[in-house]
Amino acid sequence: MDWQQIFATRTARMKASEIRELLKLLDQPDIISFAGGIPDPALFPAAAFQDAFSQALSAETQDAALQYSVSEGYGPLRDWIVGEMGALGIPCSRDNILITSGSQQALDYLGKLMLSPGDTALVSWPTYLGALGAFNAYEPRYDRLDPQTNRGADDYARAAQPGRVKFAYMSVDFANPTGETLDAAMRDRMIDLADEMDIAIIEDAAYQSLRYDGAALAPVLAREIARKGDIDACRTLYCGSFSKTLAPGLRVGWICGASEVISQLVLMKQAADLHSSTINQMAIAQVAQTMFDSHVTRIRAAYVVRRDRMLAALSQHMPDGVSWTRPEGGMFIWLTLPSHLRSDDLLAQSLRSERVAFVPGHAFFADGSGTNTLRLSFSRADEASIDEGIARLGRLIAAGLADGD
Ligand code: PMP
Repeated sequence: MDWQQIFATRTARMKASEIRELLKLLDQPDIISFAGGIPDPALFPAAAFQDAFSQALSAETQDAALQYSVSEGYGPLRDWIVGEMGALGIPCSRDNILITSGSQQALDYLGKLMLSPGDTALVSWPTYLGALGAFNAYEPRYDRLDPQTNRGADDYARAAQPGRVKFAYMSVDFANPTGETLDAAMRDRMIDLADEMDIAIIEDAAYQSLRYDGAALAPVLAREIARKGDIDACRTLYCGSFSKTLAPGLRVGWICGASEVISQLVLMKQAADLHSSTINQMAIAQVAQTMFDSHVTRIRAAYVVRRDRMLAALSQHMPDGVSWTRPEGGMFIWLTLPSHLRSDDLLAQSLRSERVAFVPGHAFFADGSGTNTLRLSFSRADEASIDEGIARLGRLIAAGLADGD
């Protein structure tokens, strides 16, 4: 049977994720993997979750824990998030929060909410692969968001015709994949541009809590509230997640934004999956209430050592002509190779001869460019593996450069 002629046009751009394929390699014991940007399971607060789940299943709460619940999300969890948002300079109420099944679901819903086929989403070059994957189903066009240039609203609008620009998607702190952070002036410029174009801003804050050094910057939504006085007057939709701080397997994230948008998203959630797992939300609420700050302090202390080790190993082992980012947080370092080297060829060789995995960068570019870039994650490897893996990669790149001479 030819299923392709039955599938909807939206499936045409849904491709198997290179990252998912690569994650399968993590199971092979001799591979040093800098590929998946996932938390170190040794840092999961497993004992706290054991307590939280057994408490949720106690006689008083088990009926609620195992029952259907409201689409907006578990009230005490939304209250905790309201407090967290307040501490970030985002005063809001429960009505401004929707719990999602991970922030990945938030991206899917926001694409579904705003994109008609042919509309334009502004994204950075490169951008988070999972965001492109989520938006692709809604058949958008992409244009390059580059707040550093003076490209103006009219120019973006013209390029979007006959559709229109609907939103700018941005990962402002320690972005996946580059590890870079958007400075305060650029955040303000983004708000100006979005106001001028009358579009939404999707602020992906998946790594926001994982800052290792440098001063914290107010989120875009906080800056917009400071200007406009009230979250309900704002165009920024903040996507948060417990995946990088507590545990990705529980699939709990949230969207914080204007209540008018949240109400519409609640209807979307009802239609899609009714609500996120009740018991998982209860467990996350319990663990967040009792130990969020101390746990985040603990994981930051572990990850900063790995970041520093990887930066030191790169300085030691990378040949001239290779450059990389120096992230202040998160999980990623982004490498740029001399333009004639292809990182996908390098990966094939690396897996064959060096047994080191990373993600070729072009997958993160909406236009498929960036063939000489790659993403390294330092979150899961121990320090000895970081030294060894980067040394092997440096040798391989040096050999590739020598071949090209
Ligand atoms: N945004 C970014 C930038 C990410 O890197 C990820 C996960 N890799 C997500 C969103 C989705 O995370 P989750 O659904 O687990 O919250």
